[in-house]
Amino acid sequence: MQHRKSDGSRRGLRSTFKSGTPARAHHNPFDDVLEQLDRAAAVLQPDPDALAPLRSPRRQVIVSAPVKMDDGHLRMFEGYRVLYDNARGPGKGGIRYHPNVTLDECKALAAWMAWKCAVVDVPFGGAKGGVACDPAALSEGELERLTRRYISEIFDLIGPSVDIPAPDVGTSPRVMAWVMDTFSMKKGYVEPGVVTGKPIALGGSSGRLEATGRGLLITVRETLRSRGRELPGSSIAIQGFGNVGSNAARLLDGAGARVVAVSDVGGAIYDPRGLDIPRLLAYQKETGRVGQFPDTQPVSNEQLLRLPVDVLLPAALEGQITAANASDIQASVVVEGANGPTTADADEVLGRRGIPVVPDILANAGGVVVSYFEWVQDRYGYFWSEPDVHARLEDKMVAAFEAVASTAKRFAVDLRTAAYIVAVERIVEARTLRGLYA
Ligand code: NAD
Repeated sequence: MQHRKSDGSRRGLRSTFKSGTPARAHHNPFDDVLEQLDRAAAVLQPDPDALAPLRSPRRQVIVSAPVKMDDGHLRMFEGYRVLYDNARGPGKGGIRYHPNVTLDECKALAAWMAWKCAVVDVPFGGAKGGVACDPAALSEGELERLTRRYISEIFDLIGPSVDIPAPDVGTSPRVMAWVMDTFSMKKGYVEPGVVTGKPIALGGSSGRLEATGRGLLITVRETLRSRGRELPGSSIAIQGFGNVGSNAARLLDGAGARVVAVSDVGGAIYDPRGLDIPRLLAYQKETGRVGQFPDTQPVSNEQLLRLPVDVLLPAALEGQITAANASDIQASVVVEGANGPTTADADEVLGRRGIPVVPDILANAGGVVVSYFEWVQDRYGYFWSEPDVHARLEDKMVAAFEAVASTAKRFAVDLRTAAYIVAVERIVEARTLRGLYA
């Protein structure tokens, strides 16, 4: 992410965000969380008393952050931090800066983090936070002051054994460095383990920046293999070309897949022969967009979702594949790079049509796996080589894929329900062993 004033005077300057797209207007992602949880519970039939705590967050906090803007005026920002569950360990989840951030969105994202950490079997619960703002419209100074004030407001709620933030939409390693510094200054000692996704120079992990994309590469490869296909030559359309989408595109292209379409908030491009991803990455760096990339066909974001491809990889925001467009999806399989890109209604439509959906809580878990590695390395004070990180990520992702695929077979359910079953079983086991405190 680049921090700059969106005065439109520089080439390629535009807000990275489009607020209130029709697909998201009346959609509460937390409703999807509960519906998805109910589906897993209907199969698993756990003790209702053990399940009840998983239907609401353990803690949800709203803060107001006053920030001195560059023009001298004070502006109030609303921020949130939700700790969904910490039965298996401290909370873990990103910080999102986006105009549409709400408490309900943070609740949904925090719940998905709890399930995700359980699916990949890392010792964390789930959390999420964010600030309703458009970071592309803030100067670097404003962004720093906002970050420091937001972190000061939630200071008592975070920490390496309490709740560990990380980057999400609209935040970056730069922002994580300010999080680490603010927390450390208030504590009076250096505490790198309070946040992950930091720059390497501050205790970040090798391989963290591309980890979600690399996890997606592994998931797409395993998904195709499980369907008797190989990655090389398969066609892939990717919605969103930020951290997740662009790294997934680069790694999938490098592994021989044909990335035929990509999009960002400004539009989409298509070439059935496969896009030249290294050139596209250079073009995006220069212009700040993917639209109008030479020798490609411009398509709309909606058209991208409907392309006839082997794999559709939504990697932008939640609520993109809905009941309204699910019947037009022509991909053989959907692999969720974003969190919650498929609504519960759309899931049903895709299920009826025999299009498998590899769920977010498995597919995009590479980021939190390497965030876990970063936290371990920070606490250990000893850092691993990049090949070491990649190898450990590979092991974790393949084990999680196998756990979910075998659960799907055992219970004859779709992959999302299977992933929820794996997560719920592990969280309920931890809760039951801990018992009820007071
Ligand atoms: P990012 O801010 O780096 O990129 C978001 C991308 O989506 C940008 O290219 C933006 O232009 C595009 N976009 C926004 N609205 C769009 C729209 N309506 N149509 C098409 N494109 C649109 O964010 P990111 O870190 O890449 O995260 C993307 C998704 O992946 C989010 O759902 C996030 O929660 C999830 N995720 C991120 C990580 C991580 O490590 N960064 C890990 C797991 C999951």
